Amino acid sequence: MCKVVSIKADVNYQKRQAMNYTISADDIEVLRLCPVCNSEVYVAISEVYYMNFSILTTSCCTNCCFVFRSTRPKALWFQNSWIKREKITNKIDYSFHTALEQRRYNRYKNLAVFLEKVTDKRSMLDVGTGPGTGLRAFKDRAWDVAGFEPDPSRAKIAVQQHGIKMVEGKFDELSEKFDFVSLIHTLEHMHNLYDFLSDVVKCIKPGGYIYMEVPDLLHFVNWRDALYLEHMGNFTIENLIFMGSRFSLSAKYQLFPKTQPFGKTHIGVLFKKEIEHYQKNDLPCPDQLERIKLLYTRGLPKNRIDFPIKYQISEINNLAVTTDKKYPLFDKRNHCFVMSSANFFAKIKLVMFKLIALDNLGQFILNCFRSYASKILPILKDDDFENIKAIKREP
Ligand SMILES: [Zn+2]
Repeated sequence: MCKVVSIKADVNYQKRQAMNYTISADDIEVLRLCPVCNSEVYVAISEVYYMNFSILTTSCCTNCCFVFRSTRPKALWFQNSWIKREKITNKIDYSFHTALEQRRYNRYKNLAVFLEKVTDKRSMLDVGTGPGTGLRAFKDRAWDVAGFEPDPSRAKIAVQQHGIKMVEGKFDELSEKFDFVSLIHTLEHMHNLYDFLSDVVKCIKPGGYIYMEVPDLLHFVNWRDALYLEHMGNFTIENLIFMGSRFSLSAKYQLFPKTQPFGKTHIGVLFKKEIEHYQKNDLPCPDQLERIKLLYTRGLPKNRIDFPIKYQISEINNLAVTTDKKYPLFDKRNHCFVMSSANFFAKIKLVMFKLIALDNLGQFILNCFRSYASKILPILKDDDFENIKAIKREP
């Protein structure tokens, strides 16, 4: 088992909350095409306004039902904001939670055990390696591993603590090719999904495999996702399989991974890089649009909803959730939700929202019970978490 260090997460969290990120209309870009199927037709589900301009529009493609940010801050704005955040977090002892990293190690180990049944090839590249704890599990099982991590402070830990070889530069210019590439919770963050995948696929040997894992749109989305800045796209299983087919990747297995015990199941697909050209022509059914729109109303008062759902924010103080400790209060005059400070009445209203959103209530109570019960009763174990379940996909 790998060695991991203790955390001061609370300090980090408080420091991050104190941040305030400036943004101007020049930092914003608008997409014209769906990143998965290239269709020009999409509908806006929600819009987030800062001052008088939109910074984040969540749209759904009417052709393939991919949900993506059609208006968003440019990649350069994120890079500059991460640097700003790092300057503060670097002053703190930036280390990682023991239980969290051990869970990561176990998840990768389970994936390795599964892959060893599928193929006898053993070279791999993990894109989005983080501190390397997960990839260490493959290394410990005698795989020939390499990692890629854009955050230098985390890449350094992978090299120094786990002896992992890191690759640098552009994927399509790497001299080495791999039997297996993993993209675990990476794709949903990408600004340029098509170009990124196109480059990554060039690193796979013909007949090799690629594993993609992303959050499942249909499992986790509620109103708050409209403000979630770090995800550029939300996938369904159909989106992922169709996307892969554009790069001659055929889905061989669907996996059902979790990142936390009692957590929600994500989408995992193991693709094979076909030697012959391969593309799926049938698109996922478009009638999921209404269902997806409904997900974005979860937690909001239903009688106030008009699409696109509009939010007004006064500041960006968190790069993930846009604006911390704020609650959506409906502004009747401007017909939008204003993200306001958490005074007593705002909190009461939020509880009311949750009660009104009865479709969400059962899940909410269940999650509260599970997280509480797993703390006081360690004997309560989530069996699904430790086991990889996989089903074979028809060609
Ligand atoms: Zn599309």
